[in-house]
Amino acid sequence: MKNSAGKKETSVPPFKAGLSCSCPRCGKGKLFSGYLNLAPCCPACGLDYSFADSGDGPAVFVILAGGLVAVLAVLAVELIWRPSFWVHAAVGIPAVLFATLLPLRILKSLLIALQFHHEAAEARIDR
Ligand SMILES: [Zn+2]
Repeated sequence: MKNSAGKKETSVPPFKAGLSCSCPRCGKGKLFSGYLNLAPCCPACGLDYSFADSGDGPAVFVILAGGLVAVLAVLAVELIWRPSFWVHAAVGIPAVLFATLLPLRILKSLLIALQFHHEAAEARIDR
């Protein structure tokens, strides 16, 4: 993002802002107003979050990585202990929820911070 003088605004390191779920410009204000809902703007520096559009990116990463971890864990449990189905359900379902919902917020924040840092936006044709 550039300011009115055309100079790039300073930003905190994207991984720091992403992992702390804070504003990608100042690193102090909160990025979210709910679990996954973005705040309209940063309460600390006033950065308008309307540029932020992570799309399905965080969900794709969580599905791929969390799915791999969950499937490997369930297979390992089955091969080692061979528990009954209800044990798989009692342990597996909370584990999958934990492995997917926890990183989703952090990944969304990280992708928005990277979007801000690299000035990513929709493609457009300049005439
Ligand atoms: Zn801010």
